[in-house]
Amino acid sequence: MSKTLFEKIIAREIPSDIVYEDDLVLAIRDINPQAPTHVLIFPKQVVPRIAETKAEDGKLLGYLLLKAAEIAGKIGLANGGYRLVINNGPNGGETVPHLHVHILGGRHMQWPPG
Ligand code: AMP
Repeated sequence: MSKTLFEKIIAREIPSDIVYEDDLVLAIRDINPQAPTHVLIFPKQVVPRIAETKAEDGKLLGYLLLKAAEIAGKIGLANGGYRLVINNGPNGGETVPHLHVHILGGRHMQWPPG
């Protein structure tokens, strides 16, 4: 199996602006930001998308969300608020088949999303 884009970033084969890293997750600045602050956090273990997660992924998914909130606070988004987004499949706008959470902040978000 070929590596996903985010696996290449984890392996430092592709450069990125790293915001946070530990044994389980990596968080980087999105290369094409959709808000003044746009960070992606993903597990180092490849899970293609949220629709393909199983009960045994629950601990990792919980960790991913807890870290997303912690990072949002650390990069100054806690007071103004922020949005977490997971795109799933073609209609969801998924372009990288490696589960990731978008952390978007620094402006007022519209609802419904486009
Ligand atoms: P999604 O469309 O939900 O799959 O999100 C994939 C995200 O990865 C998009 O927001 C892209 O802008 C972002 N992206 C693509 N290539 C890179 C890269 N080399 N470094 C950082 N972010 C990237």
